[in-house]
Amino acid sequence: MKLTTLTGISPKKAEALTKEGISTTQDLLFFFPRRYLDRSNVVPISQLRGIGEEVTVAGTVQSVEEQGFKAKKRLEVVVKDETAGMKAVWFKGAYYLKKRFKVGQKLALFGTAKQYGRHISMAHPETDILSSESDLSEFSKIVAIYPSGKHFHEARIHNAHIQSWIQQILDQSQLTECLPQSILERFELPSRDQAIRDIHTPSSHLAHQRALRRFKFEELFFFQLSMEHIHQQRSDSNRGPKLVETKPRTNTYFNQNLPFELTDGQKQALSDIKNDVQSGKQMNRLIQGDVGAGKTVVAMGALLMAVDNGYQGALVAPTEILAEQHFQSLQESFKGLDVNIRLLVGGQKTTLRRDVLTALEGGQCDIVVGTHAVIQNSVHFHRLGMVVIDEQHRFGVQQRAELLNKADHPHMLVMSATPIPRSLAMSLYADLDISIIKGLPKGRKPIRTAIRSDKRREDVYSFVESELSNGGQVYIIYPLIEESEVMDLKDATAGFEKMTQRFPSFRVELLHGRIPAEEKDRIMKDFAAGLVHILVSTTVIEVGVNVPNASIMIIEHAERFGLSQLHQLRGRIGRGSRQSYCILMPDHAVSESGAVRLKTMEKTNDGFEIAEVDLKLRGPGDFLGTKQSGLPEFKYADILQDQDLLKEAKREARAILAEDPQLTHHEYSNLKRFFEPYHERKKKFYGLA
Ligand code: ADP
Ligand code: MG
Repeated sequence: MKLTTLTGISPKKAEALTKEGISTTQDLLFFFPRRYLDRSNVVPISQLRGIGEEVTVAGTVQSVEEQGFKAKKRLEVVVKDETAGMKAVWFKGAYYLKKRFKVGQKLALFGTAKQYGRHISMAHPETDILSSESDLSEFSKIVAIYPSGKHFHEARIHNAHIQSWIQQILDQSQLTECLPQSILERFELPSRDQAIRDIHTPSSHLAHQRALRRFKFEELFFFQLSMEHIHQQRSDSNRGPKLVETKPRTNTYFNQNLPFELTDGQKQALSDIKNDVQSGKQMNRLIQGDVGAGKTVVAMGALLMAVDNGYQGALVAPTEILAEQHFQSLQESFKGLDVNIRLLVGGQKTTLRRDVLTALEGGQCDIVVGTHAVIQNSVHFHRLGMVVIDEQHRFGVQQRAELLNKADHPHMLVMSATPIPRSLAMSLYADLDISIIKGLPKGRKPIRTAIRSDKRREDVYSFVESELSNGGQVYIIYPLIEESEVMDLKDATAGFEKMTQRFPSFRVELLHGRIPAEEKDRIMKDFAAGLVHILVSTTVIEVGVNVPNASIMIIEHAERFGLSQLHQLRGRIGRGSRQSYCILMPDHAVSESGAVRLKTMEKTNDGFEIAEVDLKLRGPGDFLGTKQSGLPEFKYADILQDQDLLKEAKREARAILAEDPQLTHHEYSNLKRFFEPYHERKKKFYGLA
């Protein structure tokens, strides 16, 4: 229903609400309080001593007096009940408030009482003048406080307005239940209608908790139901290219071209992939592994399986540097295997680009490595069979879907270096199967990490010098925050100049986003070849870059980086046989959470452990970067704190779909009605509609 059907909503107020995304009475009903004032604790004045929490008292006004001078005027109202007296004090607005209170009046007050010597006083209490007993019970309730929208102020929308409008809606309507009765019973959830009432006008703290739990469950259950549906549909109907057995090229690669033995985790991941692609169904697999775990080798194996069976493969990375690096390592690893590999990135010459596109469409190109450029409409494949997405958190679900739409159900492998707990991952990426590569390749020496203040800068440089003399290479990283880009670039440039002076006999280069692609490329190549000794860089270096000989990383302004980012950065060293060192150089002023981040880095190299701390510090929304990753955003549930509920919702969703996939049972008729539009939206989001 329209908002203007409610009494007390002027067109102006309705417009302000609409601007905040509230355009119907239903929207308003699901505009939840930000917090509550619990005025239900009514206490006799004589018991106020030493309480210190918010309470309600009721008494008779004994005196109303203005005290102090001019700007320092305050209003003091003495109130007494049968047990004792106390003072209510206002330091602001004395002049107006004075007129409100009269001696002999019955007053309810809500606030925090403080004791000064023998006197009890309450500063700036909320008050209500009581004309009858029922007024006190009205006052001594749990009161909902709503978030104040940006546009509320100008339209003069106060909390009391929202309370009254919502009360009107609650009086006039009843919410239809959408969850099956059996679930409500099993999880002891209040009905939808009861729950919405307990959100806005809870009778107790417990009632509110139960109401909130219900909406969380509902939200998670719908999400899981949708995911399970998508998953089952995929596995039932989606045939994928059947990539039979390992053929000559794959065998040669694994038996002759690999310079090392695969770790157990890599073997397991490859065997998972093999099972998927031989099944005749489409693979949708996430490979999770810490930085340096060796995910690339696994990706290469998957790509070869496609090529060996006459299909094309695509490897997509979030940055040009990374794409180019993958391109080079593929060319090197697949030497002698007769695989045609091409690079496709933005900013290539038109003729070159056209050439690549023709080769892809004509089928002469076996594997394309590239950035977002591969996803564009103009790119057509002859016979795409395998899509690999590196650092998948940089890509949205939609982009994944677009890639998949370039062919008839190609297999998809996504790789992530953001380790999140398995159970959480399973519930969130419900449309993906997961392989985890545990541990790092043998022979790696754990990176040693230390925090060093500016005072010890010279010590750090001496250490750098000795490492350089022993043939090592060094990264020096500066933050680059978009808002202060100019300052940050200056910082990095100054750092570069300082290094050039301090280390005259070594080659120092500077890398940042503004440097032309060709030059960037040349610098990176020279660094990888050992021709550049110190690479001063902003975070463009972050993702995936692999130079095993680099053994020191200095991170300037280290406290300004997020924990996952620090871990990613540090993952650029410790990739070879050298002992590696990460030196975190914070500024003087480090915030509390900044200190936690640095200490965590010093303490552990384990990505999963770091992820857990990061998750706690930042909350799941920021941590997972929900917006860019296309992961679900929940309105009520917190995927961290509500993990148990998430799992239970999944179990329920699975059970229901197993028994009644079309929700035809009459117990599910409401569920079906609510679920269908929800599911359509989800399918669209995942590129399936
Ligand atoms: P990430 O998982 O971070 O993408 P990479 O695939 O870039 O890691 O691998 C990191 C480094 O480890 C590379 O130099 C790679 O050649 C090497 N590597 C991968 N697997 C092994 C292995 N099983 N044994 C030794 N080195 C390996
Ligand atoms: Mg990688």
